Amino acid sequence: MGRFRGFFGVFFFLFLMFACAGEEGAAQGAAPKTPPAGKPPEPVRGAAALEAALAAAAVPAEMARRIREEAGPFLAALGGLKDGDPFLRRLVDKGHPLPETYEPDDLVELRYKSYRAGFADVMTLRREAEAALEEMAAAAKKAGIILTVSSAYRSYRYQVGSFDRWTRRLGLAEAERVSARPGRSQHQLGLVVDFGSISNDFANTPAGKWVQANAGRFGWSLSYPRGREGLTGYAWESWHYRYVGTKLQAFIDTWFGGIQQYALRFIHEWENPAGP
Ligand SMILES: [Zn+2]
Repeated sequence: MGRFRGFFGVFFFLFLMFACAGEEGAAQGAAPKTPPAGKPPEPVRGAAALEAALAAAAVPAEMARRIREEAGPFLAALGGLKDGDPFLRRLVDKGHPLPETYEPDDLVELRYKSYRAGFADVMTLRREAEAALEEMAAAAKKAGIILTVSSAYRSYRYQVGSFDRWTRRLGLAEAERVSARPGRSQHQLGLVVDFGSISNDFANTPAGKWVQANAGRFGWSLSYPRGREGLTGYAWESWHYRYVGTKLQAFIDTWFGGIQQYALRFIHEWENPAGP
Protein backbone atom coordinates (compact mmCIF):
# COMPACT_ATOMS: atom_id res chain seq x y z
CA MET A 1 0.00 0.00 0.00
CA GLY A 2 2.78 2.41 0.97
CA ARG A 3 4.70 1.51 -2.17
CA PHE A 4 1.63 1.95 -4.31
CA ARG A 5 0.94 5.38 -2.84
CA GLY A 6 4.58 6.34 -3.30
CA PHE A 7 4.48 5.21 -6.91
CA PHE A 8 1.21 7.03 -7.49
CA GLY A 9 2.64 10.18 -5.90
CA VAL A 10 5.64 10.17 -8.24
CA PHE A 11 3.42 9.53 -11.24
CA PHE A 12 1.01 12.28 -10.25
CA PHE A 13 3.83 14.74 -9.72
CA LEU A 14 5.36 13.94 -13.10
CA PHE A 15 1.93 14.45 -14.63
CA LEU A 16 1.76 17.89 -13.00
CA MET A 17 5.22 18.77 -14.31
CA PHE A 18 4.10 17.91 -17.82
CA ALA A 19 0.84 19.79 -17.34
CA CYS A 20 2.75 22.91 -16.25
CA ALA A 21 5.28 22.56 -19.09
CA GLY A 22 2.35 22.25 -21.48
CA GLU A 23 0.88 25.51 -20.28
CA GLU A 24 4.18 27.34 -20.73
CA GLY A 25 4.53 25.87 -24.20
CA ALA A 26 1.02 27.00 -25.08
CA ALA A 27 1.75 30.53 -23.86
CA GLN A 28 4.68 30.74 -26.27
CA GLY A 29 2.76 29.21 -29.18
CA ALA A 30 0.08 30.82 -31.32
CA ALA A 31 -3.10 29.21 -29.96
CA PRO A 32 -3.54 29.20 -26.16
CA LYS A 33 -4.73 25.81 -24.98
CA THR A 34 -7.81 25.72 -22.76
CA PRO A 35 -7.38 23.50 -19.70
CA PRO A 36 -9.64 20.43 -19.71
CA ALA A 37 -13.04 21.14 -18.21
CA GLY A 38 -13.58 20.20 -14.59
CA LYS A 39 -9.86 19.98 -13.80
CA PRO A 40 -9.31 21.32 -10.27
CA PRO A 41 -6.54 23.95 -10.25
CA GLU A 42 -5.55 23.09 -6.65
CA PRO A 43 -2.95 20.35 -7.36
CA VAL A 44 -1.14 22.49 -9.94
CA ARG A 45 -0.75 25.23 -7.33
CA GLY A 46 0.48 22.54 -4.95
CA ALA A 47 3.33 21.57 -7.28
CA ALA A 48 4.25 25.19 -7.93
CA ALA A 49 4.04 26.00 -4.21
CA LEU A 50 6.32 23.05 -3.46
CA GLU A 51 8.95 24.38 -5.86
CA ALA A 52 8.61 27.90 -4.47
CA ALA A 53 8.99 26.74 -0.86
CA LEU A 54 11.97 24.48 -1.67
CA ALA A 55 13.68 27.45 -3.34
CA ALA A 56 12.76 30.02 -0.67
CA ALA A 57 13.95 27.69 2.10
CA ALA A 58 17.19 27.00 0.17
CA VAL A 59 16.77 23.25 0.63
CA PRO A 60 19.95 21.57 -0.69
CA ALA A 61 19.65 20.14 -4.22
CA GLU A 62 19.92 16.48 -3.25
CA MET A 63 17.28 16.80 -0.51
CA ALA A 64 14.97 18.75 -2.82
CA ARG A 65 15.38 16.18 -5.60
CA ARG A 66 14.18 13.36 -3.37
CA ILE A 67 11.26 15.44 -2.09
CA ARG A 68 10.26 16.18 -5.69
CA GLU A 69 10.54 12.52 -6.70
CA GLU A 70 8.44 11.39 -3.75
CA ALA A 71 6.13 14.39 -3.71
CA GLY A 72 3.03 12.31 -2.98
CA PRO A 73 4.19 10.80 0.32
CA PHE A 74 6.05 14.01 1.20
CA LEU A 75 2.94 16.19 0.84
CA ALA A 76 0.91 13.61 2.77
CA ALA A 77 3.40 13.74 5.66
CA LEU A 78 3.45 17.53 5.50
CA GLY A 79 -0.35 17.64 5.60
CA GLY A 80 -0.27 15.39 8.66
CA LEU A 81 1.55 18.10 10.62
CA LYS A 82 -1.07 20.76 9.97
CA ASP A 83 -3.38 19.97 12.88
CA GLY A 84 -0.68 19.97 15.54
CA ASP A 85 0.28 22.86 17.82
CA PRO A 86 1.74 25.48 15.42
CA PHE A 87 4.42 26.45 17.95
CA LEU A 88 5.96 22.99 17.67
CA ARG A 89 6.92 23.84 14.09
CA ARG A 90 7.36 27.60 14.52
CA LEU A 91 10.60 28.86 12.97
CA VAL A 92 12.51 30.95 15.51
CA ASP A 93 15.93 32.05 14.36
CA LYS A 94 17.94 35.20 13.70
CA GLY A 95 15.60 36.26 10.91
CA HIS A 96 12.33 35.08 12.46
CA PRO A 97 11.83 36.44 15.98
CA LEU A 98 8.96 35.79 18.34
CA PRO A 99 7.00 38.85 19.46
CA GLU A 100 8.24 40.53 22.63
CA THR A 101 4.89 39.77 24.21
CA TYR A 102 4.90 36.04 23.45
CA GLU A 103 4.78 33.95 26.58
CA PRO A 104 3.36 30.41 26.64
CA ASP A 105 0.24 30.06 28.79
CA ASP A 106 0.80 26.46 29.90
CA LEU A 107 4.20 26.61 31.58
CA VAL A 108 4.71 24.09 34.37
CA GLU A 109 7.49 23.97 36.92
CA LEU A 110 10.20 21.37 36.56
CA ARG A 111 10.23 19.27 39.68
CA TYR A 112 12.67 16.51 40.41
CA LYS A 113 11.23 13.43 38.79
CA SER A 114 13.28 11.10 36.62
CA TYR A 115 15.26 14.17 35.52
CA ARG A 116 17.09 16.63 37.69
CA ALA A 117 16.76 20.37 37.39
CA GLY A 118 19.97 22.22 38.21
CA PHE A 119 21.30 25.78 38.47
CA ALA A 120 18.25 28.04 38.41
CA ASP A 121 15.80 28.27 41.31
CA VAL A 122 12.69 27.57 39.29
CA MET A 123 12.61 26.31 35.73
CA THR A 124 9.54 25.90 33.58
CA LEU A 125 8.53 24.27 30.30
CA ARG A 126 5.29 23.99 28.41
CA ARG A 127 3.17 21.16 29.75
CA GLU A 128 3.60 18.86 26.74
CA ALA A 129 7.35 19.38 26.64
CA GLU A 130 7.70 18.63 30.36
CA ALA A 131 5.73 15.40 29.91
CA ALA A 132 7.95 14.38 26.99
CA LEU A 133 11.04 15.28 29.02
CA GLU A 134 9.88 13.09 31.89
CA GLU A 135 9.16 10.22 29.49
CA MET A 136 12.63 10.51 27.99
CA ALA A 137 14.31 10.89 31.38
CA ALA A 138 12.49 7.80 32.69
CA ALA A 139 13.87 5.77 29.78
CA ALA A 140 17.34 7.19 30.40
CA LYS A 141 17.09 6.29 34.08
CA LYS A 142 16.34 2.68 33.15
CA ALA A 143 19.61 2.74 31.21
CA GLY A 144 21.40 4.08 34.31
CA ILE A 145 21.56 7.69 33.04
CA ILE A 146 20.31 10.74 34.92
CA LEU A 147 19.44 13.73 32.74
CA THR A 148 20.06 17.14 34.26
CA VAL A 149 18.26 20.18 32.89
CA SER A 150 20.32 23.35 33.22
CA SER A 151 18.06 25.79 31.40
CA ALA A 152 14.51 25.64 30.07
CA TYR A 153 11.96 28.40 29.37
CA ARG A 154 13.48 31.84 29.13
CA SER A 155 11.36 34.96 28.77
CA TYR A 156 12.00 37.76 26.30
CA ARG A 157 13.06 39.97 29.18
CA TYR A 158 15.48 37.37 30.54
CA GLN A 159 17.09 37.12 27.10
CA VAL A 160 17.64 40.90 27.01
CA GLY A 161 19.88 40.57 30.07
CA SER A 162 21.50 37.32 28.89
CA PHE A 163 22.51 38.63 25.46
CA ASP A 164 23.79 41.80 27.10
CA ARG A 165 25.97 39.82 29.52
CA TRP A 166 27.44 37.71 26.66
CA THR A 167 28.12 40.83 24.62
CA ARG A 168 29.99 42.49 27.49
CA ARG A 169 31.97 39.31 28.11
CA LEU A 170 32.86 38.30 24.53
CA GLY A 171 32.13 41.27 22.31
CA LEU A 172 29.23 41.48 19.90
CA ALA A 173 30.53 39.18 17.13
CA GLU A 174 31.26 36.26 19.48
CA ALA A 175 28.06 36.85 21.44
CA GLU A 176 26.09 36.45 18.21
CA ARG A 177 27.58 32.94 17.77
CA VAL A 178 26.69 31.64 21.21
CA SER A 179 23.70 33.64 22.39
CA ALA A 180 20.45 34.79 20.85
CA ARG A 181 19.15 38.32 20.72
CA PRO A 182 15.84 38.80 22.54
CA GLY A 183 12.97 37.23 20.59
CA ARG A 184 15.37 35.07 18.58
CA SER A 185 15.87 32.47 21.29
CA GLN A 186 14.08 29.13 20.92
CA HIS A 187 13.98 29.09 24.72
CA GLN A 188 11.17 31.68 24.63
CA LEU A 189 8.95 28.93 23.16
CA GLY A 190 9.06 27.00 26.43
CA LEU A 191 9.88 23.91 24.37
CA VAL A 192 13.65 23.81 24.78
CA VAL A 193 16.04 22.34 27.32
CA ASP A 194 19.77 22.75 27.80
CA PHE A 195 21.27 19.65 29.35
CA GLY A 196 24.21 19.17 31.67
CA SER A 197 27.19 21.49 31.57
CA ILE A 198 25.93 23.71 28.69
CA SER A 199 29.25 23.05 26.99
CA ASN A 200 30.24 20.55 24.32
CA ASP A 201 31.89 18.42 26.99
CA PHE A 202 28.33 17.16 27.35
CA ALA A 203 28.61 15.33 24.00
CA ASN A 204 31.17 12.90 25.43
CA THR A 205 29.40 12.18 28.70
CA PRO A 206 27.21 9.05 29.02
CA ALA A 207 24.17 11.35 29.24
CA GLY A 208 25.22 13.25 26.12
CA LYS A 209 25.71 10.06 24.15
CA TRP A 210 22.41 8.65 25.36
CA VAL A 211 20.48 11.80 24.44
CA GLN A 212 22.11 11.94 21.03
CA ALA A 213 21.05 8.37 20.31
CA ASN A 214 17.57 8.45 21.84
CA ALA A 215 16.10 11.98 21.96
CA GLY A 216 14.40 11.64 18.59
CA ARG A 217 12.22 8.76 19.80
CA PHE A 218 10.68 11.12 22.35
CA GLY A 219 10.19 14.02 19.94
CA TRP A 220 13.32 16.00 20.88
CA SER A 221 15.49 17.49 18.17
CA LEU A 222 19.05 18.85 18.28
CA SER A 223 18.75 22.48 17.10
CA TYR A 224 22.36 23.43 16.42
CA PRO A 225 24.31 20.45 15.10
CA ARG A 226 28.06 20.31 14.67
CA GLY A 227 29.42 21.91 11.49
CA ARG A 228 26.15 23.70 10.66
CA GLU A 229 26.88 27.20 11.88
CA GLY A 230 26.52 28.55 8.34
CA LEU A 231 22.98 27.19 8.27
CA THR A 232 21.72 27.79 11.81
CA GLY A 233 23.77 30.89 12.67
CA TYR A 234 24.97 29.26 15.88
CA ALA A 235 28.03 27.31 16.90
CA TRP A 236 27.52 23.62 17.74
CA GLU A 237 25.41 23.17 20.89
CA SER A 238 25.36 19.49 21.79
CA TRP A 239 23.25 20.29 24.86
CA HIS A 240 20.36 22.28 23.33
CA TYR A 241 17.29 20.22 22.36
CA ARG A 242 13.93 21.44 21.15
CA TYR A 243 10.74 19.46 21.64
CA VAL A 244 8.99 19.21 18.28
CA GLY A 245 6.86 16.11 18.95
CA THR A 246 7.40 12.64 17.52
CA LYS A 247 5.49 13.32 14.30
CA LEU A 248 7.53 16.35 13.29
CA GLN A 249 10.72 14.68 14.47
CA ALA A 250 10.01 11.75 12.13
CA PHE A 251 9.35 14.24 9.31
CA ILE A 252 12.67 16.00 9.98
CA ASP A 253 14.50 12.66 9.98
CA THR A 254 12.80 11.23 6.92
CA TRP A 255 12.91 14.21 4.58
CA PHE A 256 15.54 16.63 5.90
CA GLY A 257 18.34 14.35 7.06
CA GLY A 258 17.56 15.05 10.72
CA ILE A 259 18.38 18.76 10.30
CA GLN A 260 15.71 20.75 12.11
CA GLN A 261 16.59 24.10 10.52
CA TYR A 262 15.92 22.89 6.97
CA ALA A 263 12.60 21.36 7.94
CA LEU A 264 11.32 24.33 9.94
CA ARG A 265 12.47 26.79 7.30
CA PHE A 266 10.72 24.78 4.60
CA ILE A 267 7.50 24.56 6.63
CA HIS A 268 7.67 28.31 7.29
CA GLU A 269 8.00 29.07 3.58
CA TRP A 270 5.26 26.57 2.74
CA GLU A 271 2.83 28.07 5.22
CA ASN A 272 3.79 31.71 4.54
CA PRO A 273 4.39 31.88 0.80
CA ALA A 274 5.75 35.11 -0.61
CA GLY A 275 3.17 37.03 -2.64
CA PRO A 276 3.35 37.08 -6.44
ZN1 LIG B 1 19.87 26.50 24.78
